[in-house]
Amino acid sequence: MKKVVIVGAGPAGMFAAQELIKSGLYDVTVFEQRLRAGGSGLGSDGKLNLHPKIGGDLTEFMPLEKAEGVINKIDETFQNYGVEQGTYDEKQLEKLSTKADQAGMKFIKIRQKRVGSDRLHKLNEKFQTDLKNKGVKFNFVTKVKDFKLDGTKITEVETSKGNFPCDFVISAPGRTGSLRLKPVYDKLGLECIFNPVDIGVRVEFPSSLMREIVEDYGCWDAKFLIRTPTFDDKVRTFCVCPYGFADIESYGDGLVGVNGYSNYDTRSDNTNLALLVTVGLTEPLNDTTEYGRSIARITNMLGGGKPLIQRYGDFKRHRRSDPKSIEENHVEPTLSLDKATPGDLGLAYPYRILVNILEGLEKLNTVIPGLAEDSTLLYGPEIKFYARRIITIEKGGYKTLQTNVPNLFVAGDGAGVSRGIVGAAASGMIAAREIIQLYRKLRTY
Ligand SMILES: Cc1cc2nc3c(=O)[nH]c(=O)nc-3n(C[C@H](O)[C@H](O)[C@H](O)COP(=O)(O)OP(=O)(O)OC[C@H]3O[C@@H](n4cnc5c(N)ncnc54)[C@H](O)[C@@H]3O)c2cc1C
Repeated sequence: MKKVVIVGAGPAGMFAAQELIKSGLYDVTVFEQRLRAGGSGLGSDGKLNLHPKIGGDLTEFMPLEKAEGVINKIDETFQNYGVEQGTYDEKQLEKLSTKADQAGMKFIKIRQKRVGSDRLHKLNEKFQTDLKNKGVKFNFVTKVKDFKLDGTKITEVETSKGNFPCDFVISAPGRTGSLRLKPVYDKLGLECIFNPVDIGVRVEFPSSLMREIVEDYGCWDAKFLIRTPTFDDKVRTFCVCPYGFADIESYGDGLVGVNGYSNYDTRSDNTNLALLVTVGLTEPLNDTTEYGRSIARITNMLGGGKPLIQRYGDFKRHRRSDPKSIEENHVEPTLSLDKATPGDLGLAYPYRILVNILEGLEKLNTVIPGLAEDSTLLYGPEIKFYARRIITIEKGGYKTLQTNVPNLFVAGDGAGVSRGIVGAAASGMIAAREIIQLYRKLRTY
């Protein structure tokens, strides 16, 4: 049997392993540097956005109909591991969509499910055990350090526990893992381009403001796309955490930002969401990651090494929030003041991003009345960095996940092709299917 090595046991690696082992054609080994499978979103609340163009665009790789089939397969797998069916009020969602249209926004109607932060570990354990029982070999606490080439093909992966022979590799190390593997990719001559970066704030407000959308319409993670009047820039809502909590996220090298999560069983009185401005750059600086990090750096510097928190009323009036104004605020922050410093985001963010946040929030207020009240809280930095996109070969008018090194495939957030659990899972499946197809072709000749 041909040997496939998968780097990383995140959603991309796990779904790739599932697809390969199901084919019965491969000996599948997963190397994961951590203690368990699940990847970077293991601490999240596991929102599943079941849409071929959310969290990555699957239509780059196949026609829409086929892409929907991939999404349905992923949905099936999650259902098998206990994720409940969502219920939606289609009529109300239509109405919400019309309201958004009237305000010059786009509401993206998608099938969504939610695992819940407190249930995600169990789901991953079940998935891992199932794959193990089917024959996938997992090597935890084992870091892949290098790929050894013989001619044009990788014949061995070097790990922290020795070298391992292989016929194919799927590299799915996630965004941070991909940064660390950059010297290895460079050595193999893989070309990359920068993806845009999303810079914005985490917005926290009373959960009552979105209760109808969440509870009655069944829309847990409402996605609105906004074009702002002044700059005609793209602003969007992302990762809505109903009854959730704001939390610190490490951006590495001592930089911190804010993220959000919701539990399945315990609730706060607030809901939070990310409001993000998409920034793409060209020459002379196309490094969107460095640009985002420099904004995070200034924000952290002003916050004394912590993120900033500001009342929207103060943000609008260009004045600093202070501990007293936050303590007296109607909305009580879920991130305590020992973790975020009351301050002025206006001193840290470029003018264009500030205007986009302000205009985005005011527009959203038409579909979520009360959101643009003075007592709404903003936390920053909230930045979504995306890995550089690894250039892969094209076949039949579609992109593939096969790199210039013929037996090296890439998948997930680390390849710059996804930015979410479902998108990463789908890319893992696609990479696996490409390997399976290659094998079948080889056998027909
Ligand atoms: C706080 C947080 C909340 C999130 N919430 C959501 C959400 O609700 N819904 C959603 O869709 N997405 C969410 N995401 C994003 C989602 O988690 C990612 O998009 C997804 O996990 C990417 O999957 P992946 O398999 O590409 O990479 P990852 O999940 O990052 O997995 C990569 C794995 O590879 C391992 N690895 C890296 N380098 C090596 C190496 N050299 N050797 C061996 N192993 C290696 C890593 O340890 C990791 O386990 C969230 C992310 C974060 C950080």
